Amino acid sequence: MLNSIYGIKPQDLSSFIAEHFPAYRARQLLDWIYDKLVFDPEEMSNLPKDFKQWLTDSFDFSLPQILALDLSKDGTKKFLLKLSDGKRIECVIIPEGKKNTLCLSSQTGCARGCSFCATGTMGPGRNLLPHEIMQQVLIASKEVCPERITNIVFMGMGEPMDNLDNVLETLLLLQDEQGLSFSPRRTTISTCGVLPGITKLANSKVKVKLAVSLNSAIDKVRDELMKVNIAFPLEPLKRALKYFNSQNPFRITFEYILIPEVNMDDAAIQALKRFTSDLAAKINFIPFNPVASLPYRSPTDAEVEDFMARAASLPQAITLRRSRGRDIHGACGQLATKTTKQT
Ligand code: SF4
Repeated sequence: MLNSIYGIKPQDLSSFIAEHFPAYRARQLLDWIYDKLVFDPEEMSNLPKDFKQWLTDSFDFSLPQILALDLSKDGTKKFLLKLSDGKRIECVIIPEGKKNTLCLSSQTGCARGCSFCATGTMGPGRNLLPHEIMQQVLIASKEVCPERITNIVFMGMGEPMDNLDNVLETLLLLQDEQGLSFSPRRTTISTCGVLPGITKLANSKVKVKLAVSLNSAIDKVRDELMKVNIAFPLEPLKRALKYFNSQNPFRITFEYILIPEVNMDDAAIQALKRFTSDLAAKINFIPFNPVASLPYRSPTDAEVEDFMARAASLPQAITLRRSRGRDIHGACGQLATKTTKQT
């Protein structure tokens, strides 16, 4: 089986091609793939026949099959993709003004089983390889063309820290100057709080933003919401985040899903204040998105307003983030390879 061309670092690809063809041929190829977003060598009109043939014989240029593309009334688009082994994943494009944010999957399911998350109900999946993560970027880039994907968040299916080696490799692919040259400050990895991964990411020196799905700063409540908290409770989590702060230039983002009767009372806000006050961080509050199989309800607008008024006493920057794509099950915590429409 041939190696996927999308999993090879552009710089390495250039060196390899230079062993067989003039160096400018590599630049032409990379321009077709990463700038013009053309993925079939036959369509790369300025490449000579022998080079095209060599490329086809040497690399796999195929992309996952798009099984469905759902469009939300708010402009969010959700792809259902079929990988080469038949496994299915989802990724979501969220347009907002001049921004196009791509929410990527890093696994085909998730072993972490957070109680508010549809992906968690799927159970463990396999790790995605770097080229399978890059393929999501390329498919999404083609979809928004002539605009660009401006931001990438690893917040789709899977826990990125459980597939960290491949995620780190993908970051290097994304940031390669001969490829997409994607800015680290526009890339965010989200974790439910897998401590060894946070420390390893800090030590890797690969620049990227970190988001932590926190949802409660009270161990007892967080244990209920996220079983990862039993293995990695709040105190060691905080130590790991302080270490991350010391090694990485970007503020940490805390994601906090608002669930009535669970994590919206005054005690929750006081605990959040204690946990976050000495970290370089900001906090995004996200009203819970309904998932039929889960036992929680969404807060009303009045409940959200009341919570945000009380949370204004927190020392960090706080934002209320309304999830997008709810009508196509493309919002936070709703990805579970179910679609509303087939292409
Ligand atoms: S929130 Fe993230 S870590 Fe938790 S179950 Fe869902 S995909 Fe997995």
